[in-house]
Amino acid sequence: MTDIEIAQSVELRDIREVASRWGILEDDLMVYGKHKAKLPLNLINEEKMRQGRLVLVSAISPTPAGEGKTTVTIGLSEAMNQTGRNTIPVLREPSLGPVFGMKGGATGGGYAQVLPMEDINLHFTGDFAAIEKAHNLLAALIANNLHQVQNNLQIDPRTVHWKRVMDMNDRSLRRIITGLGGTSSGIPRETGFDITAASEIMAILCLADDLENLKARFGNIFVGFTFDGKPVYARDLKATGAMAALMKDAIKPNLVQTIEGNAAIIHGGPFANIAQGTNSVIATRMGLSLADYTITEAGFGFDLGAEKFFDIKCRDAGLKPQAVVLVATIRALKYHGGAPLHELKRPDVARLKAGIPNLEKHLENIRHFGVPAVVAINRFATDTDAEIEALQAHFEGSDVEVHVADVWAKGGAGAHSLADAVARLTEANDTAFKPLYDNSWSVEQKIETICRTVYGAKAIDYTLQARKDLRKIAELGLDKLPVCIAKTQKSLSDNPELLGRPKDFVVTIREIELAAGAGFLIPITGTIVRMPGLPARPAAESIDIDREGKITGLF
Ligand code: ADP
Ligand code: MG
Repeated sequence: MTDIEIAQSVELRDIREVASRWGILEDDLMVYGKHKAKLPLNLINEEKMRQGRLVLVSAISPTPAGEGKTTVTIGLSEAMNQTGRNTIPVLREPSLGPVFGMKGGATGGGYAQVLPMEDINLHFTGDFAAIEKAHNLLAALIANNLHQVQNNLQIDPRTVHWKRVMDMNDRSLRRIITGLGGTSSGIPRETGFDITAASEIMAILCLADDLENLKARFGNIFVGFTFDGKPVYARDLKATGAMAALMKDAIKPNLVQTIEGNAAIIHGGPFANIAQGTNSVIATRMGLSLADYTITEAGFGFDLGAEKFFDIKCRDAGLKPQAVVLVATIRALKYHGGAPLHELKRPDVARLKAGIPNLEKHLENIRHFGVPAVVAINRFATDTDAEIEALQAHFEGSDVEVHVADVWAKGGAGAHSLADAVARLTEANDTAFKPLYDNSWSVEQKIETICRTVYGAKAIDYTLQARKDLRKIAELGLDKLPVCIAKTQKSLSDNPELLGRPKDFVVTIREIELAAGAGFLIPITGTIVRMPGLPARPAAESIDIDREGKITGLF
Protein backbone atom coordinates (compact mmCIF):
# COMPACT_ATOMS: atom_id res chain seq x y z
CA MET A 1 0.00 0.00 0.00
CA THR A 2 1.14 3.56 -0.63
CA ASP A 3 1.45 6.08 2.20
CA ILE A 4 -1.82 7.76 1.26
CA GLU A 5 -3.66 4.40 0.98
CA ILE A 6 -2.47 3.48 4.47
CA ALA A 7 -3.48 6.92 5.74
CA GLN A 8 -6.95 6.64 4.19
CA SER A 9 -7.52 3.15 5.65
CA VAL A 10 -7.35 4.55 9.19
CA GLU A 11 -10.53 5.63 10.94
CA LEU A 12 -9.75 9.04 12.37
CA ARG A 13 -10.77 10.02 15.89
CA ASP A 14 -12.47 13.27 16.62
CA ILE A 15 -9.69 15.70 17.49
CA ARG A 16 -11.56 16.70 20.68
CA GLU A 17 -11.33 13.10 21.88
CA VAL A 18 -7.59 12.97 21.08
CA ALA A 19 -7.08 16.26 22.93
CA SER A 20 -8.99 15.13 26.00
CA ARG A 21 -6.57 12.20 26.46
CA TRP A 22 -3.80 14.76 26.91
CA GLY A 23 -5.86 16.75 29.37
CA ILE A 24 -6.93 19.48 26.96
CA LEU A 25 -10.46 20.76 27.49
CA GLU A 26 -12.81 21.07 24.53
CA ASP A 27 -13.26 24.71 25.39
CA ASP A 28 -9.55 25.39 24.92
CA LEU A 29 -9.46 24.00 21.40
CA MET A 30 -9.79 26.15 18.32
CA VAL A 31 -11.20 23.46 16.06
CA TYR A 32 -10.69 23.39 12.28
CA GLY A 33 -13.19 20.76 11.10
CA LYS A 34 -13.18 17.38 12.84
CA HIS A 35 -9.52 16.42 12.75
CA LYS A 36 -7.42 19.55 13.23
CA ALA A 37 -7.28 22.12 16.00
CA LYS A 38 -5.12 24.98 17.19
CA LEU A 39 -3.93 25.14 20.78
CA PRO A 40 -3.99 28.37 22.79
CA LEU A 41 -0.66 29.59 24.15
CA ASN A 42 -1.97 29.63 27.71
CA LEU A 43 -1.66 25.82 27.78
CA ILE A 44 2.10 26.32 27.98
CA ASN A 45 3.00 25.56 31.58
CA GLU A 46 6.48 26.39 32.92
CA GLU A 47 6.27 23.92 35.77
CA LYS A 48 5.28 20.99 33.54
CA MET A 49 7.83 22.04 30.93
CA ARG A 50 10.62 21.60 33.43
CA GLN A 51 9.53 18.02 34.05
CA GLY A 52 9.10 17.13 30.38
CA ARG A 53 11.90 15.32 28.59
CA LEU A 54 13.00 16.63 25.22
CA VAL A 55 14.40 14.18 22.65
CA LEU A 56 15.84 15.26 19.30
CA VAL A 57 15.75 13.03 16.23
CA SER A 58 18.57 13.79 13.82
CA ALA A 59 20.37 11.83 11.10
CA ILE A 60 23.64 11.03 9.36
CA SER A 61 24.38 12.92 6.12
CA PRO A 62 21.34 12.07 4.01
CA THR A 63 20.88 10.67 0.52
CA PRO A 64 18.73 12.92 -1.68
CA ALA A 65 15.58 10.97 -0.63
CA GLY A 66 15.82 11.76 3.10
CA GLU A 67 16.66 9.16 5.73
CA GLY A 68 13.37 8.98 7.56
CA LYS A 69 13.72 11.34 10.54
CA THR A 70 10.04 12.31 10.44
CA THR A 71 9.01 8.68 10.05
CA VAL A 72 11.19 7.61 13.00
CA THR A 73 10.02 10.55 15.13
CA ILE A 74 6.41 9.48 14.65
CA GLY A 75 7.07 5.74 14.97
CA LEU A 76 9.20 6.17 18.08
CA SER A 77 6.46 8.31 19.66
CA GLU A 78 3.94 5.54 18.98
CA ALA A 79 6.34 3.01 20.55
CA MET A 80 6.77 5.23 23.62
CA ASN A 81 2.99 5.47 24.03
CA GLN A 82 2.57 1.72 23.48
CA THR A 83 5.06 1.06 26.27
CA GLY A 84 3.25 3.32 28.72
CA ARG A 85 5.22 6.55 28.27
CA ASN A 86 3.10 9.58 27.60
CA THR A 87 4.67 11.07 24.46
CA ILE A 88 3.91 13.68 21.81
CA PRO A 89 5.84 14.10 18.55
CA VAL A 90 6.37 17.75 17.57
CA LEU A 91 7.04 18.30 13.88
CA ARG A 92 7.41 20.85 11.11
CA GLU A 93 4.67 21.75 8.64
CA PRO A 94 5.18 20.62 5.04
CA SER A 95 5.76 23.15 2.28
CA LEU A 96 3.85 22.84 -1.00
CA GLY A 97 7.13 23.11 -2.94
CA PRO A 98 8.29 19.53 -2.27
CA VAL A 99 4.68 18.23 -2.20
CA PHE A 100 4.27 19.15 -5.88
CA GLY A 101 7.94 18.77 -6.76
CA MET A 102 10.10 15.78 -6.03
CA LYS A 103 10.43 14.95 -2.36
CA GLY A 104 6.77 14.71 -1.39
CA GLY A 105 5.16 15.84 1.85
CA ALA A 106 6.42 15.65 5.40
CA THR A 107 3.93 13.56 7.33
CA GLY A 108 6.06 10.43 7.78
CA GLY A 109 5.58 7.21 5.85
CA GLY A 110 4.15 3.70 5.94
CA TYR A 111 2.62 2.93 9.36
CA ALA A 112 4.30 5.90 10.99
CA GLN A 113 2.30 8.90 9.77
CA VAL A 114 0.43 11.89 11.10
CA LEU A 115 -3.13 12.42 9.89
CA PRO A 116 -5.06 13.72 8.02
CA MET A 117 -2.05 13.63 5.70
CA GLU A 118 -3.93 15.25 2.79
CA ASP A 119 -4.82 18.30 4.89
CA ILE A 120 -1.43 18.60 6.58
CA ASN A 121 0.34 18.45 3.20
CA LEU A 122 -2.09 20.84 1.45
CA HIS A 123 -2.64 24.24 3.16
CA PHE A 124 -3.28 22.67 6.59
CA THR A 125 -4.60 25.48 8.84
CA GLY A 126 -3.25 28.34 6.74
CA ASP A 127 -0.08 29.15 8.69
CA PHE A 128 2.05 29.32 5.54
CA ALA A 129 -0.50 31.68 3.95
CA ALA A 130 -0.33 33.98 6.97
CA ILE A 131 3.48 33.98 6.89
CA GLU A 132 3.40 34.75 3.18
CA LYS A 133 1.04 37.68 3.73
CA ALA A 134 3.05 39.13 6.60
CA HIS A 135 6.22 38.85 4.52
CA ASN A 136 4.64 40.39 1.42
CA LEU A 137 3.03 43.17 3.45
CA LEU A 138 6.50 44.32 4.45
CA ALA A 139 7.61 44.09 0.80
CA ALA A 140 4.63 46.23 -0.24
CA LEU A 141 5.36 48.79 2.49
CA ILE A 142 8.98 49.04 1.37
CA ALA A 143 8.01 49.47 -2.30
CA ASN A 144 5.44 52.08 -1.31
CA ASN A 145 7.95 53.94 0.81
CA LEU A 146 10.33 54.15 -2.14
CA HIS A 147 7.49 55.40 -4.34
CA GLN A 148 5.95 58.09 -2.10
CA VAL A 149 7.64 61.39 -2.75
CA GLN A 150 6.60 62.92 0.55
CA ASN A 151 7.64 61.40 3.86
CA ASN A 152 9.68 58.54 2.51
CA LEU A 153 12.60 57.25 4.54
CA GLN A 154 15.18 57.94 1.81
CA ILE A 155 15.91 54.23 1.51
CA ASP A 156 18.49 53.48 -1.18
CA PRO A 157 16.61 50.89 -3.31
CA ARG A 158 19.89 49.24 -4.28
CA THR A 159 20.43 48.16 -0.66
CA VAL A 160 17.05 46.48 -0.19
CA HIS A 161 17.25 42.67 -0.21
CA TRP A 162 13.77 41.92 1.15
CA LYS A 163 12.05 39.90 -1.58
CA ARG A 164 8.57 38.45 -1.84
CA VAL A 165 7.59 34.87 -1.01
CA MET A 166 5.22 32.24 -2.32
CA ASP A 167 4.80 28.60 -1.24
CA MET A 168 5.39 27.04 -4.64
CA ASN A 169 8.42 25.79 -6.57
CA ASP A 170 8.63 28.27 -9.45
CA ARG A 171 12.15 29.00 -10.67
CA SER A 172 10.95 31.66 -13.10
CA LEU A 173 10.24 33.98 -10.17
CA ARG A 174 13.77 33.88 -8.79
CA ARG A 175 14.78 37.17 -10.37
CA ILE A 176 12.25 39.68 -11.61
CA ILE A 177 11.88 43.41 -12.22
CA THR A 178 9.05 45.16 -10.41
CA GLY A 179 7.78 48.71 -10.73
CA LEU A 180 7.59 48.87 -14.53
CA GLY A 181 4.82 51.01 -16.05
CA GLY A 182 5.73 54.61 -15.43
CA THR A 183 5.54 57.08 -12.57
CA SER A 184 2.29 55.76 -11.11
CA SER A 185 3.59 52.19 -10.77
CA GLY A 186 6.44 52.50 -8.34
CA ILE A 187 10.22 52.49 -8.68
CA PRO A 188 11.67 49.91 -11.12
CA ARG A 189 13.86 47.52 -9.22
CA GLU A 190 15.39 44.09 -9.52
CA THR A 191 13.99 41.71 -6.92
CA GLY A 192 12.54 38.18 -6.78
CA PHE A 193 10.58 35.53 -4.94
CA ASP A 194 11.73 32.97 -2.37
CA ILE A 195 9.70 29.98 -1.25
CA THR A 196 7.73 30.70 1.96
CA ALA A 197 9.74 28.23 4.07
CA ALA A 198 12.81 30.41 3.37
CA SER A 199 11.14 33.58 4.67
CA GLU A 200 12.66 35.30 7.68
CA ILE A 201 9.07 35.58 8.95
CA MET A 202 9.04 31.78 9.16
CA ALA A 203 12.32 31.77 11.09
CA ILE A 204 10.90 34.43 13.41
CA LEU A 205 7.63 32.59 14.03
CA CYS A 206 9.65 29.53 14.98
CA LEU A 207 11.77 31.38 17.56
CA ALA A 208 9.12 33.68 19.04
CA ASP A 209 7.78 33.22 22.58
CA ASP A 210 4.49 35.03 22.10
CA LEU A 211 2.87 37.87 20.12
CA GLU A 212 4.87 40.58 21.91
CA ASN A 213 8.15 38.83 21.17
CA LEU A 214 7.00 38.18 17.59
CA LYS A 215 6.40 41.90 17.13
CA ALA A 216 9.76 42.82 18.61
CA ARG A 217 11.51 40.42 16.23
CA PHE A 218 9.50 41.70 13.26
CA GLY A 219 10.61 45.21 14.18
CA ASN A 220 14.26 44.15 14.06
CA ILE A 221 14.10 42.92 10.46
CA PHE A 222 16.84 44.71 8.53
CA VAL A 223 15.46 46.39 5.42
CA GLY A 224 18.44 48.25 3.93
CA PHE A 225 20.32 51.55 4.18
CA THR A 226 19.29 55.13 3.56
CA PHE A 227 21.20 57.10 0.92
CA ASP A 228 23.42 58.45 3.69
CA GLY A 229 24.21 54.99 5.06
CA LYS A 230 21.87 54.70 8.04
CA PRO A 231 20.25 51.30 8.66
CA VAL A 232 16.49 50.97 8.17
CA TYR A 233 14.53 48.34 10.07
CA ALA A 234 10.93 47.13 9.67
CA ARG A 235 9.96 49.13 12.77
CA ASP A 236 10.96 52.34 10.92
CA LEU A 237 8.30 51.49 8.34
CA LYS A 238 5.71 51.03 11.13
CA ALA A 239 5.15 47.57 9.71
CA THR A 240 5.16 45.41 12.81
CA GLY A 241 1.63 45.80 14.18
CA ALA A 242 -0.11 44.87 10.95
CA MET A 243 2.34 42.05 10.24
CA ALA A 244 1.73 40.58 13.69
CA ALA A 245 -2.05 40.98 13.31
CA LEU A 246 -1.87 38.69 10.28
CA MET A 247 -0.20 36.07 12.51
CA LYS A 248 -2.95 36.03 15.15
CA ASP A 249 -3.83 32.35 14.56
CA ALA A 250 -0.63 31.24 12.83
CA ILE A 251 1.23 31.68 16.12
CA LYS A 252 -0.84 28.89 17.71
CA PRO A 253 0.46 25.33 17.27
CA ASN A 254 -1.65 22.75 15.44
CA LEU A 255 -2.91 19.54 17.00
CA VAL A 256 -3.49 16.44 14.85
CA GLN A 257 -3.27 12.68 15.41
CA THR A 258 -0.97 9.80 14.52
CA ILE A 259 -2.08 6.58 12.81
CA GLU A 260 -2.41 5.00 16.27
CA GLY A 261 -4.65 7.83 17.48
CA ASN A 262 -2.11 9.66 19.63
CA ALA A 263 -1.70 13.43 19.73
CA ALA A 264 0.87 15.12 17.45
CA ILE A 265 1.78 18.79 17.28
CA ILE A 266 2.83 20.40 14.00
CA HIS A 267 3.92 24.00 13.71
CA GLY A 268 6.24 26.06 11.51
CA GLY A 269 8.64 24.85 8.86
CA PRO A 270 11.84 26.83 8.32
CA PHE A 271 14.70 25.69 6.04
CA ALA A 272 17.57 23.86 7.72
CA ASN A 273 20.33 25.64 5.78
CA ILE A 274 19.50 29.38 5.82
CA ALA A 275 17.36 29.04 8.97
CA GLN A 276 17.15 26.90 12.10
CA GLY A 277 15.28 23.98 10.51
CA THR A 278 12.99 22.97 13.36
CA ASN A 279 9.37 23.48 14.38
CA SER A 280 8.43 26.49 16.50
CA VAL A 281 9.68 27.05 20.04
CA ILE A 282 6.03 27.52 21.01
CA ALA A 283 5.18 24.02 19.70
CA THR A 284 8.12 22.42 21.53
CA ARG A 285 7.06 24.13 24.76
CA MET A 286 3.50 22.98 24.16
CA GLY A 287 4.69 19.37 23.78
CA LEU A 288 6.72 19.63 26.99
CA SER A 289 3.69 21.09 28.80
CA LEU A 290 1.30 18.35 27.70
CA ALA A 291 3.40 15.16 27.59
CA ASP A 292 6.14 13.51 29.64
CA TYR A 293 8.26 13.00 26.51
CA THR A 294 8.46 15.38 23.55
CA ILE A 295 10.13 13.98 20.46
CA THR A 296 11.13 16.43 17.77
CA GLU A 297 13.14 16.54 14.56
CA ALA A 298 15.68 18.89 13.01
CA GLY A 299 16.15 19.07 9.24
CA PHE A 300 18.93 17.42 7.20
CA GLY A 301 21.90 15.78 8.98
CA PHE A 302 23.17 16.44 12.49
CA ASP A 303 25.83 18.89 11.20
CA LEU A 304 23.13 21.23 9.89
CA GLY A 305 19.78 20.90 11.63
CA ALA A 306 20.88 19.60 15.01
CA GLU A 307 23.78 22.04 15.43
CA LYS A 308 21.30 24.87 14.85
CA PHE A 309 18.69 23.22 17.05
CA PHE A 310 21.19 23.25 19.92
CA ASP A 311 23.13 26.46 19.32
CA ILE A 312 20.26 28.67 18.14
CA LYS A 313 16.91 27.27 19.23
CA CYS A 314 17.68 25.53 22.53
CA ARG A 315 19.95 28.32 23.73
CA ASP A 316 17.55 31.09 22.71
CA ALA A 317 14.52 29.38 24.24
CA GLY A 318 16.28 27.89 27.28
CA LEU A 319 15.32 24.36 26.24
CA LYS A 320 17.15 21.41 27.79
CA PRO A 321 17.47 18.54 25.30
CA GLN A 322 18.14 15.22 27.01
CA ALA A 323 18.84 12.73 24.27
CA VAL A 324 19.51 12.46 20.55
CA VAL A 325 18.25 9.65 18.33
CA LEU A 326 20.60 9.51 15.35
CA VAL A 327 18.82 7.97 12.38
CA ALA A 328 20.96 5.97 9.98
CA THR A 329 19.86 3.91 7.01
CA ILE A 330 21.68 1.00 5.47
CA ARG A 331 21.25 2.66 2.06
CA ALA A 332 22.79 5.97 3.16
CA LEU A 333 25.76 4.19 4.74
CA LYS A 334 26.34 2.30 1.49
CA TYR A 335 26.11 5.62 -0.37
CA HIS A 336 28.80 7.09 1.90
CA GLY A 337 30.82 3.93 1.34
CA GLY A 338 30.90 4.60 -2.39
CA ALA A 339 27.78 2.88 -3.77
CA PRO A 340 26.13 4.83 -6.60
CA LEU A 341 22.51 5.93 -6.03
CA HIS A 342 21.02 3.33 -8.37
CA GLU A 343 22.75 0.49 -6.47
CA LEU A 344 21.56 1.34 -2.96
CA LYS A 345 19.04 -1.51 -2.92
CA ARG A 346 21.70 -4.13 -3.66
CA PRO A 347 23.15 -5.89 -0.56
CA ASP A 348 26.73 -4.75 -0.03
CA VAL A 349 28.27 -5.25 3.40
CA ALA A 350 31.69 -3.98 2.28
CA ARG A 351 30.39 -0.60 1.15
CA LEU A 352 28.15 -0.41 4.20
CA LYS A 353 31.20 -0.79 6.45
CA ALA A 354 33.09 1.76 4.37
CA GLY A 355 30.30 4.26 5.05
CA ILE A 356 30.32 3.93 8.86
CA PRO A 357 32.88 6.76 9.40
CA ASN A 358 30.14 9.23 8.43
CA LEU A 359 27.95 7.89 11.24
CA GLU A 360 30.90 7.95 13.65
CA LYS A 361 31.63 11.59 12.92
CA HIS A 362 28.02 12.55 13.69
CA LEU A 363 28.22 10.59 16.97
CA GLU A 364 31.40 12.47 17.86
CA ASN A 365 29.62 15.73 17.11
CA ILE A 366 26.74 14.89 19.42
CA ARG A 367 29.22 14.39 22.27
CA HIS A 368 30.46 17.98 21.85
CA PHE A 369 27.02 19.13 23.03
CA GLY A 370 27.03 16.89 26.10
CA VAL A 371 23.82 15.05 25.14
CA PRO A 372 23.66 11.22 25.14
CA ALA A 373 22.73 9.47 21.89
CA VAL A 374 21.35 6.23 20.52
CA VAL A 375 21.52 5.09 16.88
CA ALA A 376 18.27 4.08 15.16
CA ILE A 377 18.51 2.03 11.98
CA ASN A 378 15.47 3.03 9.97
CA ARG A 379 14.71 -0.32 8.39
CA PHE A 380 13.86 -0.52 4.69
CA ALA A 381 12.36 -3.63 3.07
CA THR A 382 15.53 -3.97 0.97
CA ASP A 383 17.86 -4.13 4.00
CA THR A 384 19.33 -7.57 4.58
CA ASP A 385 19.91 -9.13 8.01
CA ALA A 386 23.59 -9.49 7.12
CA GLU A 387 23.89 -5.73 6.59
CA ILE A 388 22.06 -4.87 9.81
CA GLU A 389 24.14 -7.37 11.78
CA ALA A 390 27.35 -5.95 10.31
CA LEU A 391 26.39 -2.47 11.51
CA GLN A 392 25.43 -3.70 14.97
CA ALA A 393 28.61 -5.77 15.21
CA HIS A 394 30.69 -2.69 14.47
CA PHE A 395 29.44 -0.98 17.64
CA GLU A 396 29.40 -4.08 19.88
CA GLY A 397 31.41 -3.51 23.01
CA SER A 398 31.34 0.27 22.55
CA ASP A 399 29.09 2.61 24.51
CA VAL A 400 26.93 3.23 21.43
CA GLU A 401 23.58 1.43 21.40
CA VAL A 402 22.20 0.59 17.97
CA HIS A 403 18.51 -0.30 17.64
CA VAL A 404 16.46 -1.23 14.60
CA ALA A 405 13.40 0.97 14.07
CA ASP A 406 11.00 -0.94 11.87
CA VAL A 407 8.29 1.68 12.19
CA TRP A 408 7.57 2.23 8.49
CA ALA A 409 6.37 -1.38 8.25
CA LYS A 410 5.06 -1.92 11.79
CA GLY A 411 4.29 1.44 13.42
CA GLY A 412 5.07 1.69 17.13
CA ALA A 413 5.42 -2.09 17.44
CA GLY A 414 8.61 -1.80 15.40
CA ALA A 415 10.51 0.34 17.90
CA HIS A 416 10.02 -0.96 21.45
CA SER A 417 13.72 -1.54 22.09
CA LEU A 418 14.49 1.96 20.78
CA ALA A 419 11.78 3.39 23.05
CA ASP A 420 13.31 1.60 26.06
CA ALA A 421 16.73 2.98 25.16
CA VAL A 422 15.38 6.54 24.90
CA ALA A 423 13.60 6.18 28.25
CA ARG A 424 16.84 4.96 29.85
CA LEU A 425 18.88 7.84 28.43
CA THR A 426 16.42 10.38 29.79
CA GLU A 427 15.69 8.61 33.06
CA ALA A 428 17.58 11.01 35.30
CA ASN A 429 15.71 13.98 33.74
CA ASP A 430 19.02 15.76 33.79
CA THR A 431 21.24 17.02 31.02
CA ALA A 432 24.82 18.11 30.55
CA PHE A 433 23.76 20.01 27.43
CA LYS A 434 25.96 22.94 26.48
CA PRO A 435 26.07 24.95 23.26
CA LEU A 436 29.24 24.68 21.17
CA TYR A 437 30.22 28.34 21.35
CA ASP A 438 29.53 31.49 23.27
CA ASN A 439 27.52 34.23 21.56
CA SER A 440 29.98 36.81 22.89
CA TRP A 441 32.78 35.39 20.70
CA SER A 442 33.68 37.15 17.45
CA VAL A 443 31.74 36.09 14.36
CA GLU A 444 34.88 34.49 12.86
CA GLN A 445 35.50 32.51 16.04
CA LYS A 446 31.93 31.20 16.02
CA ILE A 447 32.15 30.21 12.35
CA GLU A 448 35.53 28.55 12.80
CA THR A 449 34.43 26.56 15.81
CA ILE A 450 31.49 25.05 13.92
CA CYS A 451 33.52 24.40 10.76
CA ARG A 452 36.42 22.76 12.55
CA THR A 453 34.62 20.91 15.32
CA VAL A 454 31.41 19.81 13.61
CA TYR A 455 32.28 19.66 9.90
CA GLY A 456 35.91 18.62 10.38
CA ALA A 457 37.44 21.40 8.27
CA LYS A 458 41.15 22.21 8.48
CA ALA A 459 40.75 25.89 7.60
CA ILE A 460 38.24 28.61 6.72
CA ASP A 461 38.52 30.98 3.82
CA TYR A 462 36.60 34.26 3.54
CA THR A 463 35.90 35.96 0.21
CA LEU A 464 36.27 39.74 -0.09
CA GLN A 465 32.49 40.03 0.08
CA ALA A 466 32.39 38.01 3.31
CA ARG A 467 35.01 40.32 4.85
CA LYS A 468 32.94 43.34 3.82
CA ASP A 469 29.88 41.73 5.40
CA LEU A 470 31.81 41.13 8.63
CA ARG A 471 32.59 44.85 8.82
CA LYS A 472 28.98 45.79 8.15
CA ILE A 473 27.79 43.40 10.87
CA ALA A 474 30.21 44.93 13.37
CA GLU A 475 29.10 48.47 12.43
CA LEU A 476 25.48 47.54 12.97
CA GLY A 477 26.39 46.03 16.35
CA LEU A 478 25.01 42.62 15.38
CA ASP A 479 28.17 40.59 15.90
CA LYS A 480 26.92 39.00 19.12
CA LEU A 481 24.23 37.03 17.33
CA PRO A 482 24.62 33.26 16.86
CA VAL A 483 25.52 31.97 13.38
CA CYS A 484 23.36 29.83 11.14
CA ILE A 485 25.73 28.46 8.50
CA ALA A 486 24.15 27.71 5.12
CA LYS A 487 25.81 24.60 3.74
CA THR A 488 25.00 21.59 1.58
CA GLN A 489 23.34 18.73 3.46
CA LYS A 490 24.92 16.13 1.20
CA SER A 491 28.36 16.27 2.78
CA LEU A 492 29.87 17.13 6.13
CA SER A 493 31.98 19.60 4.12
CA ASP A 494 30.78 22.48 1.94
CA ASN A 495 31.42 20.38 -1.17
CA PRO A 496 28.46 18.09 -1.98
CA GLU A 497 30.78 15.63 -3.75
CA LEU A 498 32.75 14.74 -0.61
CA LEU A 499 30.88 11.82 0.95
CA GLY A 500 31.77 9.68 3.96
CA ARG A 501 33.95 11.49 6.46
CA PRO A 502 35.89 14.12 4.49
CA LYS A 503 39.16 15.48 5.90
CA ASP A 504 41.64 18.29 5.17
CA PHE A 505 39.11 20.46 3.38
CA VAL A 506 38.78 24.24 3.47
CA VAL A 507 35.35 25.81 4.00
CA THR A 508 34.78 28.96 1.96
CA ILE A 509 32.49 31.62 3.43
CA ARG A 510 31.17 33.53 0.42
CA GLU A 511 28.99 36.10 2.12
CA ILE A 512 27.23 36.68 5.41
CA GLU A 513 23.59 37.66 5.50
CA LEU A 514 21.65 39.21 8.33
CA ALA A 515 18.52 37.77 9.82
CA ALA A 516 18.41 40.45 12.50
CA GLY A 517 14.72 39.84 13.18
CA ALA A 518 15.12 36.12 13.68
CA GLY A 519 18.29 36.89 15.61
CA PHE A 520 21.11 35.18 13.72
CA LEU A 521 23.73 35.71 11.04
CA ILE A 522 23.84 33.50 7.96
CA PRO A 523 27.36 32.75 6.70
CA ILE A 524 26.84 31.25 3.25
CA THR A 525 28.96 28.47 1.77
CA GLY A 526 28.23 27.21 -1.74
CA THR A 527 25.10 28.20 -3.59
CA ILE A 528 21.82 28.25 -1.75
CA VAL A 529 18.59 27.91 -3.68
CA ARG A 530 15.72 29.70 -1.96
CA MET A 531 13.24 29.27 -4.75
CA PRO A 532 13.47 25.67 -5.93
CA GLY A 533 12.31 24.62 -9.41
CA LEU A 534 10.08 21.69 -10.36
CA PRO A 535 11.65 18.52 -11.80
CA ALA A 536 10.95 17.24 -15.35
CA ARG A 537 8.19 14.99 -13.92
CA PRO A 538 6.70 16.94 -11.00
CA ALA A 539 4.78 14.99 -8.35
CA ALA A 540 1.88 17.35 -9.14
CA GLU A 541 1.22 15.35 -12.34
CA SER A 542 0.17 12.32 -10.28
CA ILE A 543 -2.07 14.09 -7.75
CA ASP A 544 -5.81 13.95 -8.27
CA ILE A 545 -9.15 14.30 -6.49
CA ASP A 546 -12.32 12.36 -7.34
CA ARG A 547 -16.01 13.21 -7.28
CA GLU A 548 -16.26 12.37 -3.57
CA GLY A 549 -13.30 14.55 -2.71
CA LYS A 550 -10.90 11.67 -2.19
CA ILE A 551 -7.33 12.68 -2.96
CA THR A 552 -4.75 10.36 -4.54
CA GLY A 553 -1.09 10.64 -5.43
CA LEU A 554 0.24 12.40 -2.34
CA PHE A 555 3.23 10.80 -0.59
P1 ADP B 1 13.27 12.98 6.61
O1 ADP B 1 12.38 13.49 7.69
O2 ADP B 1 14.58 12.50 7.13
O3 ADP B 1 13.41 13.91 5.46
P2 ADP B 1 11.04 11.24 6.00
O4 ADP B 1 10.67 10.55 7.27
O5 ADP B 1 10.18 12.36 5.55
O6 ADP B 1 12.57 11.68 6.01
O7 ADP B 1 11.12 10.11 4.88
C1 ADP B 1 11.44 10.42 3.53
C2 ADP B 1 10.69 9.46 2.61
O8 ADP B 1 11.17 8.14 2.78
C3 ADP B 1 9.20 9.41 2.89
O9 ADP B 1 8.51 9.36 1.67
C4 ADP B 1 9.00 8.13 3.66
O10 ADP B 1 7.74 7.56 3.44
C5 ADP B 1 10.10 7.26 3.11
N1 ADP B 1 10.58 6.31 4.11
C6 ADP B 1 11.08 6.63 5.33
N2 ADP B 1 11.44 5.52 6.00
C7 ADP B 1 11.16 4.48 5.18
C8 ADP B 1 11.31 3.07 5.29
N3 ADP B 1 11.83 2.51 6.39
N4 ADP B 1 10.92 2.29 4.25
C9 ADP B 1 10.41 2.85 3.13
N5 ADP B 1 10.24 4.19 2.96
C10 ADP B 1 10.61 4.99 3.96
MG1 MG C 1 11.52 15.33 7.97
